[in-house]
Amino acid sequence: MLNTTMQSLGAAPSAIRTLFAYGAERKKVIGADKVFDYSIGNPSVPAPQEVGNAMVEFGQADPVAVHAYTQAAGDPDIRQHIADSLNRQHGTSYDASNLYLTCGAAAAISISLKAIIEPGDEIIVISPYFPEYRVWIETHGARIVEVPARLDNFEIDLPALEAAITAHTKAVIINTPNNPVGVVYSLENLQGLASVLTRKSEQNGRPIFLISDEPYRELVYGGREVPWVPSIYDNTIVCYSWSKCLSLPGERIGYVLVPPTATEHVALTQAVSGAGRALGFICAPALFQRIIERCVDLPADIATYERNRQILCDILDEFGYTYIEPQGAFYLWVKALEDDAQAFSDKAKEHELLLVPSDSFGVGGWVRLGYCIAEETIRNSREAFGALKRDYE
Ligand code: PLP
Repeated sequence: MLNTTMQSLGAAPSAIRTLFAYGAERKKVIGADKVFDYSIGNPSVPAPQEVGNAMVEFGQADPVAVHAYTQAAGDPDIRQHIADSLNRQHGTSYDASNLYLTCGAAAAISISLKAIIEPGDEIIVISPYFPEYRVWIETHGARIVEVPARLDNFEIDLPALEAAITAHTKAVIINTPNNPVGVVYSLENLQGLASVLTRKSEQNGRPIFLISDEPYRELVYGGREVPWVPSIYDNTIVCYSWSKCLSLPGERIGYVLVPPTATEHVALTQAVSGAGRALGFICAPALFQRIIERCVDLPADIATYERNRQILCDILDEFGYTYIEPQGAFYLWVKALEDDAQAFSDKAKEHELLLVPSDSFGVGGWVRLGYCIAEETIRNSREAFGALKRDYE
């Protein structure tokens, strides 16, 4: 009667959303200031004033024009404007035809996967990984293959990745800066990845695509460089969004970039359009396409997250927690104090600490803390982290 796969996806939302929903209810019961909700990646930095100004301006403009459908790939002038911005940053020569605007990075990844997956394909992810990858890979008919990150620095383990590639490998998904561990892949690591993929593509007689999921591109600490992946590997598909850097996660705006260096890039661009069509997207939100045109070159406010990161690291250091110091994004990957991450997350809940267990990210024994929350909440959670540590002594 129903598609039971879809039913079970709906009946069991992600661990992140489940904890986020629990937090919303708990805040109603004991007060928002008593719940230390580290569950979800909703930016705490307000969207820039320019976004609000543009909304007011478009509110006065011709509503028929402002709210109309755009081309499926997005308004061509706006896409050209975004391409120009990318070209200034990366020394590339993209144009409007290389961009397909989407409802955020989530839609960009789902569309990219649907565009390339054929029955029997395998898609490699680096664990720990963003849990929704599994949903998109499997529902588009491929098999997910997990390759653990290097344990010393959480970069891509190139020999392990090479060993995991088979004749069925269609793509590898990477995410840098990374959710959940906060690593930013080095140029050397990405160049190593490119040579593995080039060699294996030749052996396979067909390209292995690299899907570079980049919603945290601008969120890096200490002036660290985030290499531009399509300049390192030709068959890269970039999935980007303004959810995190401009704090617009609910507005759903991002893009797929198919660079002209990709094998048969015109056909690939058509497949991306076809996937967007098959999934029923029609076009990305028209109002936010226009707003992005105004805001594409605004810098991200990294200072707030940098301060939050420091305060949280100081608290974790004080009580002797083990964690990975993030180089980017706004998550901390903390070792659970018992092997069972879910049990540890449940124990943390008793102290009103909402920490996402690592299991759905493809590894056991860790929790993820999103520190894109109010500084005061982080400061106020100090006691709870101390009490949680004492539970295990
Ligand atoms: N990829 C990663 C690694 C994420 O962390 C997220 C959101 O948290 C997404 C994709 C989806 O982001 P968007 O809001 O752009 O769809």
